[in-house]
Amino acid sequence: MSALLFREDAYLQSCTASVTAVDVRGIQFDRTVFYPNGGGQPGDVGSLQREDGSNLAIVNTIKGDAPDEVLHVLADGVEQPAVGETVRLQLDWDRRYAHMRYHTALHLLCAVVAAPVTGGQVAQDKARLDFAVDMDALNKDAIETGLNAFVAAGHAVDQRWISDAELDAQPELIKTMSVSPPRGAGEVRLIEVAGTDLQPCGGTHVCNTAEIGRLVVQKIKSEGKQNKRVIIAFAA
Ligand SMILES: [Zn+2]
Repeated sequence: MSALLFREDAYLQSCTASVTAVDVRGIQFDRTVFYPNGGGQPGDVGSLQREDGSNLAIVNTIKGDAPDEVLHVLADGVEQPAVGETVRLQLDWDRRYAHMRYHTALHLLCAVVAAPVTGGQVAQDKARLDFAVDMDALNKDAIETGLNAFVAAGHAVDQRWISDAELDAQPELIKTMSVSPPRGAGEVRLIEVAGTDLQPCGGTHVCNTAEIGRLVVQKIKSEGKQNKRVIIAFAA
């Protein structure tokens, strides 16, 4: 189990941490700022600085077996640090910050398009959601206008935790049919974009929609009868 520092403060770019376990899949630390791949957001990359001052690249971050188990993956063939060693973890912040802005933008897209979400993915240069909706319900200009109004309004983005039972009593909060909410020890994390969107989410977000910046709808395309894909990107 690691303390997942990115959950409470997504803006932390580095931390010191002790190695608690090492196996062929990756390294676990007692605490981390690295987000593991999941919920449509890629795992973080970056580096760790060892006690002797040398740096090792972290090429991916993935979930382990337990809910709060995070595995930091080194490049093939690199000798891993030993259990008990203290290191400094450092994110590739430009990449992560783009993920935070796009991830928050997808919450806005959820609010703009009134249809069930069937999937989604964030990348460094674009993001997408898939909707179960007819093609003619998706208008590029209207979606773009709606997104940029939410960005310009500078809505606060907050989080809070509710119990599994409270979530079960409000099934309408779950908007993404393909991703089950991030349930931990009887609690679920809710992300609220003030007055705009409220849903369970385990990802990293910016704290105000103004940080996203202007967005464009890059493409709307059919991915089959049940899937219509809306791809968004930062305006150039
Ligand atoms: Zn989210």
